[in-house]
Order: sequence, then structure tokens, then C-alpha cells
Amino acid sequence: MAVEKRTSSNPELNTALQNFYGAAEEMGLSDGLTEILSHSERKFCISIPVEMDDGTIKVFDGYRVQHNTAIGPAKGGIRYDKEVNLDECEALAIAMTWKCALAGIPYGGGKGGVSVDVLKISKREKEKISRTYVARLDKAFGAWNDIPAPDMGTDGQVMVWFIDTLSKMRNQLEPGIFTGKPVNFWGSLGRNEATGLGISTCALELLKTVGKDPKNTTVAVQGFGNVGSFAAKFMDEAGSKVVGISDITGSYYNANGIDIKAAFEHIGKHPKKLLEGFAGGEKIEEVLFADCDILMPCAAGNQITKDTADKIKAKYICEGANYPTTTEGDEILAKKGIIAVPDFLANSGGVIGSYFEWCQDLSGFFWSREEYNKRLVNIMGSNFRDVWAYSQEKNVKMRRAAFLKAIQRVAERSELRGIFL
Ligand code: NAD
Repeated sequence: MAVEKRTSSNPELNTALQNFYGAAEEMGLSDGLTEILSHSERKFCISIPVEMDDGTIKVFDGYRVQHNTAIGPAKGGIRYDKEVNLDECEALAIAMTWKCALAGIPYGGGKGGVSVDVLKISKREKEKISRTYVARLDKAFGAWNDIPAPDMGTDGQVMVWFIDTLSKMRNQLEPGIFTGKPVNFWGSLGRNEATGLGISTCALELLKTVGKDPKNTTVAVQGFGNVGSFAAKFMDEAGSKVVGISDITGSYYNANGIDIKAAFEHIGKHPKKLLEGFAGGEKIEEVLFADCDILMPCAAGNQITKDTADKIKAKYICEGANYPTTTEGDEILAKKGIIAVPDFLANSGGVIGSYFEWCQDLSGFFWSREEYNKRLVNIMGSNFRDVWAYSQEKNVKMRRAAFLKAIQRVAERSELRGIFL
């Protein structure tokens, strides 16, 4: 390939770029399209001056990256975390482009955030940061150009502050610009559980494909936040035995199966919604290495690496977190014959659910939870089967098959539209 390949010192951006170049080379993508799709269309960097509660002025760094909008408006979360930086936003925006294309929803990829330690700011300070962030990026956002959603450190309340600010600036309410809103303010029933439901749908499809009964299957889930807790709940409801769960306070194992309802009750009572002190399993060193059939990493990025992949005992992995597996970790999984359902397929239930919310907001017609879940399970099941069939046809692992499919869709649309801006 004559293209000069981009690299990055940021591990997530580097993984995103190298995964793309690998797939682009394999599918014979033209140099021109390889150049275009390895760069982001727009990267916004802003400063956010805020008068803090003690009267001092602090300035925070804010970002928004729109990687590619060939298929439709950019879609992706806004993260508040002290580690947020432009490269991380770009890596996550790239992932969103492929995720939306693979999901078959009419969006491109975006991501943004503010570099701030959310544990060190008050609610009032968070509101000021949010309103200034969205006001400074006013031109970037719209239901037909860029549609953010909550991510780490942000939630439905932050989305409401964003909408309220833009609505007042634009003198009209535009609820379709943001998703992940509270159900009582243009949000959608079902969105809270959507990512976990999507992951469990992929896991159950995989079991069906390999001829394994969910009732004779054990599952371990890393992370018991929004994604992991619902993935565990839906696997439990399907009759699988969830033998391991974990969060930032530790890993818990029970060979007879963890009582997931009790785990939900435990975090419900904990002031910080943590498993700390959970008595429904013995404390183990790390749930990633637990004896189980399916492992669901649903906590953070860079968990399955060259140092950890070898210790994994699961036969199947269903990735809930974004980028839980590094390139080296993935090579080790492949050598061990472990089948991994890649993050941007397995966790796409969240963005498909956001798309449902956008559809409802644009039409002003709201669906029942049953309608929402039924459509989600249908789309996720069909997307899983498509990627599986393609991986068999091309004789490649699922991650590569998913990339090839997603890149092909974005490339076709880019060619159709042509190069202008
Ligand atoms: P969350 O903050 O609700 O939960 C994260 C959980 O992981 C918490 O239980 C936390 O204690 C735990 N955790 C963090 N580091 C850990 C570690 N090293 N070991 C064990 N547990 C650890 O976040 P979430 O919304 O559940 O998101 C989890 C991941 O899924 C993130 O990578 C996120 O980007 C990704 N994701 C989320 C959604 C969504 O809809 N929420 C959609 C797609 C992808």
C-alpha cells in the first residue's frame, strides 16, 4: 500500500488505526479511500471557562470529533473524565463509524468529552461545564449533523442541560439532537437496558450457532455497571449460570451461580452502587481468568492484553466494553481458538437503542418497552448472524469480518457521494 500509515502514541487510537489499515489492505480498499477513512472529518478543541463554587475561575478542555458522516449524522457519546483527550475521542469516534455502519443504522461516527475529574466538581459546576461546552460547540450539533449521547461521567441530566441550552439559543426545542434522555423528557423506554440486552442476544445467538444449550453454559462478567449488570441479568434469565461478576472493588465467584437479583439489590443499597461487601460469592483475584464458557468484559478498555489473554479460560468472549482487547491480546485469543464477538458488534445495542429514541423524537410517537426490545433483539440477532456467516465465508475471525463489512458500507457511501468537503 502506498498510503503513509498514521500511528499514535495513544494505545486506543493506535489500535483503531491499525485495525482499520489491516482490514483495508485485506479488502483491497483503494489508497484514496484508505487515506480518507483513516482521517477524521472534523476535530473540535474548545476551552470551557467556569466560575467554580468558591468564586475562582477554572478552564477545562473540551473536544468533539466527527470521524465520518458518509452514511449519516455523526453519533457518539460525550465523556467527562480526567483522562479525556483529543486522541481518545478520535479513537472512539472511529469505532462509532464502524459500529453504526455494521449495525445498519443511518449514522456516522462521533465522540466528544471534557477533561474533568467528575468526583471533584459539584452538580452546579457540572451544569455550567455542560452548558458552556454545548454553547461553544453549537454549530457542531444537530439532529441531522451530530447527535451525542451520554458516556462515562455524563447521564440523562447532562443531556437535558445540553438541550435546554441549545433550545434557548435557537429559540426552538430540538429533542432529536441528543439521545439517552430521561424517559419523562423525550427519552425512551428500554434504552437503559439496551446495551446489556444486545450483548446477551449476541451471546445466545453464538451459543445457538455452536450448538450449545444456554442452560448448560457458565458466564463471567467483568464490570457490574450499566452494561455488565444487564448483560448478566439477561443471561441469567435465559437460564445460563452467571458464575463470576466484578467491579472496581473486586471479583466475586460462585460455581453454583451468583444470585443476580441479590447483586442488583446489593448495588441498589450501596451509596456508590458498588459490589463492595457482596456476600453472594467468594472473592477471587480477577474475574477475567474465571472458569467459565463465556466471558463478557463490560468494564473498561485494554483488559485483554498480551499479559492477560493467556490466562483466560473461557471458550467464548462477548465484548461489552469498548476496546477491551488490544491487538496483541486478540492474537493470543485467536491462537487459543477462543471465539470473540467484537465490541462494535456486541455492544451496538446501545446505539441501536439511541437510534430508536431519535426515530421516536423525530416523529413524536413513542413505543412501548416490548416494541423496543423486540425490535432490538431482531436487529442484533440478524446482525450477529450476518457477521458470523461472513466470517465463515471469508474464513476470518468475527472481528475482521465485522470490520470488512462495516468499512465496505462506509466506503460505498463515500464513493457514491464523492469527495467535496
Ligand atoms: P459504568 O460506569 O456504568 O460501569 C462500569 C463498571 O465497570 C463499574 O461497575 C465499574 O466499577 C467497573 N470497572 C471499572 N474498571 C474495572 C476494572 N478494572 N475491573 C473490574 N471492574 C471495573 O459504565 P457502562 O455504561 O457499564 O460502560 C462500560 C463499558 O461499556 C465502557 O467501556 C463503555 O464505553 C462501554 N459501552 C457502554 C454503553 C452504554 O450504553 N452504557 C454502550 C456501548 C459501550
